[in-house]
Amino acid sequence: MNSDFVIPTLHESTRGLQLEQVSLSAIADCFGSPTYVYSEAALRQAFQAYEQALAGREASICYAVKANSNLGVLSVFARLGAGFDIVSGGELSRVIAAGGDPAKVVFSGVGKSVAEMRQALACGIRCFNVESEAELERLDAVAGEMRLVAPIALRVNPDVDPKTHPYISTGLRSNKFGVAFDEAMRLYELAAALPHIRISGIACHIGSQLLDPAPMEEATRKILALVDRLKGWGIALEHIDLGGGLGIRYRDEQPPPVAEYLAPMLSLLNGRSEKICFEPGRSLIGNAGLLLTRVEYLKHGTEKNFAVVDAAMNDLARPALYDAYHEVVEVDRRAVPALHYEVVGPICESGDFLAHDRKLSIEQGDLLAILSAGAYGMTMSSNYNTRPRAAEVMVVGERMHLIRERESVESLYALESRLPQG
Ligand SMILES: *Cc1c(COP(=O)(O)O)cnc(C)c1O
Repeated sequence: MNSDFVIPTLHESTRGLQLEQVSLSAIADCFGSPTYVYSEAALRQAFQAYEQALAGREASICYAVKANSNLGVLSVFARLGAGFDIVSGGELSRVIAAGGDPAKVVFSGVGKSVAEMRQALACGIRCFNVESEAELERLDAVAGEMRLVAPIALRVNPDVDPKTHPYISTGLRSNKFGVAFDEAMRLYELAAALPHIRISGIACHIGSQLLDPAPMEEATRKILALVDRLKGWGIALEHIDLGGGLGIRYRDEQPPPVAEYLAPMLSLLNGRSEKICFEPGRSLIGNAGLLLTRVEYLKHGTEKNFAVVDAAMNDLARPALYDAYHEVVEVDRRAVPALHYEVVGPICESGDFLAHDRKLSIEQGDLLAILSAGAYGMTMSSNYNTRPRAAEVMVVGERMHLIRERESVESLYALESRLPQG
């Protein structure tokens, strides 16, 4: 079973499941549950796989902060020399608070506000990935007021089908993201004429959880054709940003190793002068984290058995949102017969499930680990049902670090007030 875990640093020991050298039950004893637990070594390995695949090239790896924005996680990537792909001013503040370098930040997103533009310009970020003509004009005006020049890339929509879940596919013509391929030339000309804009590059990101390199290869071909056409028009780009999107294994998916995924893109880029940039999120953190939860009750019904656990859809939304599959494993081996369970949370919604029909050998009070929960887990969590958000712990070798305290209930309504009487 050991080699089967989707989390590389998770293994069985006499003390139950361990992440690196720390037993998960010790983490639950110290910090309670539900708790997100991450492995620093797994983060490092994932980052280094990108570094090795890009060795010898002028390439930057800009971690997509929205996958997991905990300062502890960001600080690990910052120390490894990562850049960051952000989608809000809030994420920029986090990057800086975590010790990240704003000069390595690229700013994506369709709805950048004036305040966010000012913040990013004042910090001196590396590039705005501009997603519309209106944004380009607003950015020029904001930079002008600040007597600055904004570096930009246009996010171009290459109109290729990434063959992933429709909610996480972003590169089709019908998506809200980026500017249409046919419009890009005109917008680059406009950008070149704007006094407070400096054209730095081009960007594209076609979707997430990609398991096949072919769509990105096709997108790269299209992007490079555009880059060459722009050069012919006297607009030379310094960098090409090919986004994120590499998938991970949740169940039986077979994502290519990073080097294999990047190879077709890199071979198209061979011999070119532009710097390259990637924006991986899920593939850097998804399989470095799990959600630790405790069984509150077992309900044995006539049709189904339910394991009611203390984590819920507010903690991990992906199953309810995308019908996503996450592996669920027992933390301690029990000598009780395995039964098939629906793993559900306490929230008052029928959609509040974490896993369907899993064979588990468990008793009330046992701990379960929900695997591959490092990406789009905590960052998509909510306080629905006035549930305090989970704690987060980073394991480093034999040490555990609390990188986010469990929320208190009082903090959830601290910004609210009763209506005055009369
Ligand atoms: C979400 C996102 C990413 C990261 O995607 P992953 O699938 O997590 O690698 C990168 N770039 C942009 C613009 C994004 O929106």
